[in-house]
Amino acid sequence: MNNDELRRRREAAIARGVASATPVFADRAENAEIWDVDGNRYIDFAGGIAVLNVGHLHPRVIAAVSEQLTRFSHTSFQVMAYESYVELAERLNAIAPFTGSAKSILFTTGAEATENAVKIARAATGRSGVVSFTGGFHGRSALASALTGKVTPYKWQFGPALPDVFHVPFPNPTHGTSVADSLKALDFLFAADLHPRSVAAFIVEPVQGEGGFNVAPPELLRALRTICDTYGIKLIADEVQSGFGRTGRMFAIEHSGVEPDLIAIAKSLAGGFPLSGVIGRAELLDAVEPGGLGGTYGGSPLGCVAALAVLDIIADEKLLDRSRAIGARIAHRVDSWRTRNDLLGISPVRGLGGMVGFDILDPENDMKPMQNGGKIVAGRALEAGLIILNCGAKGETVRVLVPLTASDALVDEGLDCLEVALSVVPRVEA
Ligand code: PMP
Repeated sequence: MNNDELRRRREAAIARGVASATPVFADRAENAEIWDVDGNRYIDFAGGIAVLNVGHLHPRVIAAVSEQLTRFSHTSFQVMAYESYVELAERLNAIAPFTGSAKSILFTTGAEATENAVKIARAATGRSGVVSFTGGFHGRSALASALTGKVTPYKWQFGPALPDVFHVPFPNPTHGTSVADSLKALDFLFAADLHPRSVAAFIVEPVQGEGGFNVAPPELLRALRTICDTYGIKLIADEVQSGFGRTGRMFAIEHSGVEPDLIAIAKSLAGGFPLSGVIGRAELLDAVEPGGLGGTYGGSPLGCVAALAVLDIIADEKLLDRSRAIGARIAHRVDSWRTRNDLLGISPVRGLGGMVGFDILDPENDMKPMQNGGKIVAGRALEAGLIILNCGAKGETVRVLVPLTASDALVDEGLDCLEVALSVVPRVEA
């Protein structure tokens, strides 16, 4: 089967609601490279949307999963427990970015992680209010999409969002919003709609992923922490995209020095296997009665052994240092393109460590971020041999999520492709 044939079958068989960033079909992958069914090779700067910080098919992940497959693939933790889940929880508790004792619970998807973090905060506080941020992305299931701060395509068409979820502006210089604006909006919200003592949790991405690789200013996180401490609100860090070394620390919130109460984790936790979880203060995790949390597949044995291998790989291959080095390498090269008039205009690079992105600017609109600019560049990059994703409120941002195990040579080759994709060519219609 080639790409064309598979595209036809896909269109006939699969709902339009699931979109793909590329029109090609995967055949095989290795570390930071993928080959499609027509034999084309691509450098992978997407990592399956931030899932592959340790690369495709890391030999130690494969060894751990293969060994597990000789024993059992599934029991459901809720039927018969297994050691790898216990060991993973112990290791996650040991890296929790807060003082005091931690406990963990495992699920399968990022949306489950964010939803369950909110459920835990609600159970622990006996309150229902949740405040999240515009541009934030927390998943597509019912509560997660209510938390998500973007209407189209995530909420529109799907009926009323779950109640008691409120959004305030995320500080974003491009949108003209500052930390002071966010805090003022919070004051208005507390004055008009919601007593702070009715709020169970704030949920925030320390670096917004889908929203455009916007770093939460430390002053915002510190201010949220103070409000939490004043009113007994819990602070949830959504580290689904930013966790496990992506930003040069194990968790992005560590850059700010602010301690969260609960952390939602998924994606790169298990090196390509579906696994997610919540790490949190022990007393909060124990607020829910037995049976109130879980899921048939939650904490799959394959995911658990993969995650144990991932934690070893991050330590042994010094991937936190590597993340910072990769981020600096990319930022240096991309920033050098800003003075080139044979390339599309771009914003300064932003992000933390290896979580870096930049906007495509529109010469026909005062060099403001270009509607679908990131999408257009990603499309051209694919033709040049690079898989890269866009993000941002208007699809204006190009984001890099290259495996942290990629060599400098491969990163440079990917950047060569990106440079080709940025070459000024006749304007492509969005
Ligand atoms: N939170 C964040 C920050 C994410 O980036 C994502 C996925 N892009 C999710 C939650 C939802 O994860 P999933 O798609 O696995 O449900």
